[in-house]
Amino acid sequence: MERTVTMSLTDALNELVTANRILAREGVVDAFGHVSIRHPEAAQRYWVSRARAPDCIELDDLMEFALDGTPIDPAGRNPYAERHIHGAVYEDRPEVHAVVHNHSPSLIPYSITGVPLRPVMHMCASMGTHVPVWDSRSAFGDTNLLVTSMSMGRDLARALGTRPVALMRGHGCVVAGPSLRNVVFNSIYLELNAHLQMQASSLGEVTFLSDGEIAAILQTRSSFTYERAWEYWCRRAGRAYDHRPMGGPLSQAT
Ligand SMILES: [Zn+2]
Repeated sequence: MERTVTMSLTDALNELVTANRILAREGVVDAFGHVSIRHPEAAQRYWVSRARAPDCIELDDLMEFALDGTPIDPAGRNPYAERHIHGAVYEDRPEVHAVVHNHSPSLIPYSITGVPLRPVMHMCASMGTHVPVWDSRSAFGDTNLLVTSMSMGRDLARALGTRPVALMRGHGCVVAGPSLRNVVFNSIYLELNAHLQMQASSLGEVTFLSDGEIAAILQTRSSFTYERAWEYWCRRAGRAYDHRPMGGPLSQAT
């Protein structure tokens, strides 16, 4: 089921603060990592916090950027060096309205070993049938691994393609989707899947979800699933739950 709900900028920014707090509370981000939204009224701009730990973020920390990473009104605030991850994905994917970049710890082994990250349980099917790994060294040589330019961001966006998730070798991942509730959901269950896949691998041969099972799960996943999870995570993060589904289509796009 697809529902599009128009969201005011005020609602969107409050939702972005909530998304930061939830990702911190659920262990997806620590002092580092970030989440953004496309401007609900100006598709060529996006919002993300100033450089600050997600659990500390308040409304006044949120900054507006052009897709090339230029701040609209910096007001002396220091932006994230890696904001180009967000701008490059929005530039490449008109249907994407929210992006998470994180260093979710259980994902890292799958970015450095050649062992593919694949869904092992139904709640984690959102990653799809193939999770690519982007290696900054392939095009940019020895760097500090941070995505500090639009050319690096665009190279990462190319590796992501039309998928919801790409891993970044020795670094973390990028998660793109139609709404904050979608990318937060996907980020939390990515970490869980990576942890479970690692546990299962230590016991023996793993039976993964089939491509047909993944497709069936995503076809039948409704906005109710995202709302039920969002209300729960809002409670845990100490944030008010806004019962209006916001931020564009809530059903999984892949
Ligand atoms: Zn990073």
